[in-house]
Amino acid sequence: MSSLLERTIPGQQVTGPELPDYDQLQRCIHCGRCLPVCPTYQETLLEMMSPRGRLALLRAVEDGKIGLTAQIADYLYSCLDCRACNVVCPAEVPIGELILQGRAAYAEQVGRPWWGRLILDRFLSSARALEPVMKLARLYQRLGLPHVARPLLRALKDRHSIFQVLYHMEGLLPKLPDRPLHVRLEEITPARGQRRYRVGFFLGCMMSQVLADASQATIRVLTRNGCEVVTPHDQVCCGAPHEDQGNKRKARELARRNIDVFSRYHDLDVIVTDCAACAGMLKEYPHLLRDDPEYYPRAVAMAHRVRDISEWLAEIIDDSTPIGEVPRAVTYHEPCHLANVQGIREQPVQVLRKIPGLELRPLRDSTRCCGSAGIYNLTHPEMSNRLLADKIQKIAETGADTVVTGNPGCVLQIQMGLREHGVPVRVRHLTQVLDEAYEHAQSQPPADANEEWVIHANSRTDPN
Ligand code: SF4
Ligand code: SF4
Repeated sequence: MSSLLERTIPGQQVTGPELPDYDQLQRCIHCGRCLPVCPTYQETLLEMMSPRGRLALLRAVEDGKIGLTAQIADYLYSCLDCRACNVVCPAEVPIGELILQGRAAYAEQVGRPWWGRLILDRFLSSARALEPVMKLARLYQRLGLPHVARPLLRALKDRHSIFQVLYHMEGLLPKLPDRPLHVRLEEITPARGQRRYRVGFFLGCMMSQVLADASQATIRVLTRNGCEVVTPHDQVCCGAPHEDQGNKRKARELARRNIDVFSRYHDLDVIVTDCAACAGMLKEYPHLLRDDPEYYPRAVAMAHRVRDISEWLAEIIDDSTPIGEVPRAVTYHEPCHLANVQGIREQPVQVLRKIPGLELRPLRDSTRCCGSAGIYNLTHPEMSNRLLADKIQKIAETGADTVVTGNPGCVLQIQMGLREHGVPVRVRHLTQVLDEAYEHAQSQPPADANEEWVIHANSRTDPN
């Protein structure tokens, strides 16, 4: 009798480490405004693949009606963490954060898979820790192995999921830099001309290891605008991949490390990064460390100083540095963690509009996720490919010759999609386009300006 009564008492019945805040789960009024913007719901039309459905599952877990099983976890991990739902929710439910919290609760309950511990904890904790893996990847490209491995993996990819993942990883890799940027960059890069600002630079692991050219362009653009750039060599990963995969402990450990590192520099005007996902994560450190009395106030102080590069450039660019013409037709893909997490939508466009000769063409559904979403493209290749195909089609519709974006995951994903669909459009980080414009102002074309961009299937000598 008493157990029946207990079961019928409404309210939270289950508590446990990392479970989402029950009061916040209760704030959902089931209005359904989040359904049309959720890519996984749009693609499946399943309630459990929607923001509202995922919240209902978490509520049912805490109501004690269902267990936090592997099947429920699948619905949580099928979320892209794109946060499109957060933006439209009239009840201001922090949906994305609650879903990530649900993943953390599941990881606490069952432990994390071996590959997660190996890849995320061992190698993805900093650009330096990633070096052994990237050395192998560079050697793989230098020896010309992609020509052999790619057709082989294509033939095997439907036989086992591991081949599918390897095929996808191989497809994502662009031509790698000879050396990562973090080993080439001095701690202090002086401003060109008079120093106007002193900025800390958060160099994302992927930016250093894979898209070093883009971050070099970022440094040049900053120094041209009077910024002295301080790049602490002991900074570590922002923790976004760890939080994304339910490893809040590691994410907090990395956050505390970065707070310690950047607090050594008291005189920084801002901390800038050219990785939208890193910027979003650094700004969320206060939320991540909300239960840590020592680090919470320091996380707030650091988050206040963090700027995405587009945000900072829109603020500081003035007429003192001449900008040359870039006669290109460009379209802009908005990274989810820039537009939805940080609410930065206008600034990248404002920066692009400052470039003479550049024609900006609107991209339909420019904020819709491209399917990259951390390692989602590896863990959920089918859904990821559907979203990517949609993105590529919409990019092709614009007729632009260049697609600009501001997040390494988006750059790699869209490059791969363009290559696979044979669409001759190049992908550039925002700072690369601006860097090109500054170079043109000095009548010195940048290194890649005269390259002939030719599409070859499976080749890295294409426009990307
Ligand atoms: S928009 Fe917000 S309140 Fe409405 S159903 Fe979705 S999560 Fe619930
Ligand atoms: S974060 Fe994106 S994929 Fe996840 S529930 Fe919200 S809209 Fe859907």
